[in-house]
Amino acid sequence: MNRPALLGGEKSFPTPFSFLTSTGPKELAAVTEVMKRGVLSEFIGASGPFFMGGEQVKHLEVAWAKYFGVAHALSVNSATSGLHAAVVAAGVSQDDEVIVPPQTMSATATAVVMAGGIPVFVDQDEKTGCLSTAAVAKAITSRTKAIIVVNLFGGPADVFGMKKLADQHGIILIEDNAQAPGGRKKGQMLGTIGHLGVYSLNCHKTIQCGEGGIVVTNNDDLARRVALVRNHGENAVQGMGCLQDSDIVGYNYRLTELQAAIARTQLDRLEELNDIRLQIVAGLDDLFSQFKGILFAKDKPGDRHVYYIYPLWITEKEAGISRNLFVHALKAEGAPIEGGYVEPLYRLPLFQNLIRSNKAKVVPSEGCPVAEKMFSTSFCYSTLVRVENGIELLGNMAAAVGKVMSHKEELRNWQESQGLP
Ligand SMILES: *Cc1c(COP(=O)(O)O)cnc(C)c1O
Repeated sequence: MNRPALLGGEKSFPTPFSFLTSTGPKELAAVTEVMKRGVLSEFIGASGPFFMGGEQVKHLEVAWAKYFGVAHALSVNSATSGLHAAVVAAGVSQDDEVIVPPQTMSATATAVVMAGGIPVFVDQDEKTGCLSTAAVAKAITSRTKAIIVVNLFGGPADVFGMKKLADQHGIILIEDNAQAPGGRKKGQMLGTIGHLGVYSLNCHKTIQCGEGGIVVTNNDDLARRVALVRNHGENAVQGMGCLQDSDIVGYNYRLTELQAAIARTQLDRLEELNDIRLQIVAGLDDLFSQFKGILFAKDKPGDRHVYYIYPLWITEKEAGISRNLFVHALKAEGAPIEGGYVEPLYRLPLFQNLIRSNKAKVVPSEGCPVAEKMFSTSFCYSTLVRVENGIELLGNMAAAVGKVMSHKEELRNWQESQGLP
């Protein structure tokens, strides 16, 4: 009964689990209202009353700005679009450098490429996995126009340190807050500390409308530029009297009325949905605090991690088991666990090509040691925080981890016998 599944025992998770879908009757009611009105989008790509969209879009943006305590919230059809709009709003153009972390969703870096800029990959902080302020400070050059810091896994990066650095150099700080809506740093909402913040509303994120995103800022000029990128700004600059923004190529990054209505309902439920995750996290923290050499995220006073995923760092020497074997054995139990997060982006063929033609950079050029280590040997994460009935499955998780950690030696022998790395 206590035998690890990898060594022939029963699985701790006998039945496959499904991931939580955050939508329900409230979203259905919101969509029904929009369908009754029959107006699915009200944007017009020219200056005038509908340049900023229809009533649902406007309601969502007012509610979002109020909730997060910012002057402007602009909806877009994805966080990828939002990041691109933010990079353009920041004034990034041909061959301007933008500092980004290596381990993040690829859109953080492709947004820079889309604007003609040069993504500069700089290493992460050992403790949080987020972009390292010390490393960024060393990588800033006269060409640096912006920094995109990611609040990775749902936890706060050193956003205040990064903001100070950006202000000292007169450059723009963009927070990619796709994974951390409702998270905080020193009591302040993540996404609202940089000059621009971007949230995702795609179906994998805590709150969603299928596909969607929001850009926030307290700066009127940045907000106007984001709105121009979102909605064919070239048609609007004359009517709006902002010819200084004639550098902007407008796209169609508009959110529909249906999505806006869903997103507004989801915003009302953000705390409820974050609370579900945090209850699961409390159980996981209890579980992992029993083991040496397995570290989980810990909030500093005033901070709030909201756990897009549950991050874990394993030190093989102390834990007595390698990250790879730990993940392999837990996967055999059927547990929701994954190793490494994403490959450092500069290894992808796209960025390798760009690096060869001096359109992307890595600092240091041989690769970022923390990102490499997290990917290859130290980092793993659990997705139990977004499993349906995750709280009820905490017992299964404890059983799985208990079995693995009490059979470390046998598992290592098994690994050797299989010739696995
Ligand atoms: C999900 C995600 C994005 C992209 O979001 P979309 O809305 O799918 O475009 C960007 N950055 C990070 C860190 C993400 O997790």
